[in-house]
Amino acid sequence: MAKVLRSKVLGFCMGVKRAVDMAEEVLNENEGKEVFMLGPLIHNEQALQALYDKGLHLLSEEYIEERCNEKSVVIIRAHGTSPSILTRIEKTGARIVDTSCPRVKASQKRAASYSQDGFLVFIAGDLGHGEVLSISSYAGDKAIVFKDAEEAKTFFKTSELFQKNPRAFDKAILISQTTIRKEEYDAIIAVLQKKLPQIEVFNTICSATKERQLFLRELAHEVDGILVIGGRHSANTQRLLSLAQELSPHAALVEAAHEIPPEFFRLEKVGLTAGASTANKSIDEVEQKLLEANTV
Ligand code: SF4
Repeated sequence: MAKVLRSKVLGFCMGVKRAVDMAEEVLNENEGKEVFMLGPLIHNEQALQALYDKGLHLLSEEYIEERCNEKSVVIIRAHGTSPSILTRIEKTGARIVDTSCPRVKASQKRAASYSQDGFLVFIAGDLGHGEVLSISSYAGDKAIVFKDAEEAKTFFKTSELFQKNPRAFDKAILISQTTIRKEEYDAIIAVLQKKLPQIEVFNTICSATKERQLFLRELAHEVDGILVIGGRHSANTQRLLSLAQELSPHAALVEAAHEIPPEFFRLEKVGLTAGASTANKSIDEVEQKLLEANTV
């Protein structure tokens, strides 16, 4: 293997970098206090391990009352959380450090204000994803989530309310999970605009995701295979992988250097990209391992 090329944009996005920096600051300032993160701060095992080593503890929602008190600090992750969870933490007396990404906060605010004005809030994204859960919680019972265009079509076919009283859908907006692929969002927009021509559509795809996808397309022309570095549970990393698979005959996701599939050591040029929650250290290690193969 002769060459390793990095995508022009890869690794930590603004929101994740901000969350990790804030968590490190809290850990340094609060020695002796129990510092929790509510759910994994980011979807990257290596970066998380570095924070665990500094004393951060993982906290699940069901143990908030049991484990938190006025001496605790609870870090809210970049995906945000719901108002009801924030209230539960506040009641324990714990200090909250909210690292919610400003872009996610903007969607939460939009969901809250439009739903209060009587709008339905359609959200394009994965219902099981922390960001979608947090945004939809701000819209309460006005939130309707679709993961893809098929789900959207099924909804309109099967919704009794829509069949009986389509006027109930007159006031509606559509926002998306920040990491959704543009093509997926466009397909959902097309379904909704056909059924609800008056719907107000917001472009809430994060530029960090768009940039990584754009530069991956550029990189794919120059290499024989693509390694996507990042956590398997990271939505934006998985989306980079599916794009890499479309663009290249050799594409794989690795969380760490030891996972590089053997075929990549036989390729002439390997391209590297990385999800928005992948630390530089992980990228360096993968690159190093590929380059070492040149010397043996
Ligand atoms: S991908 Fe975008 S929205 Fe998500 S945390 Fe990063 S900067 Fe924020």
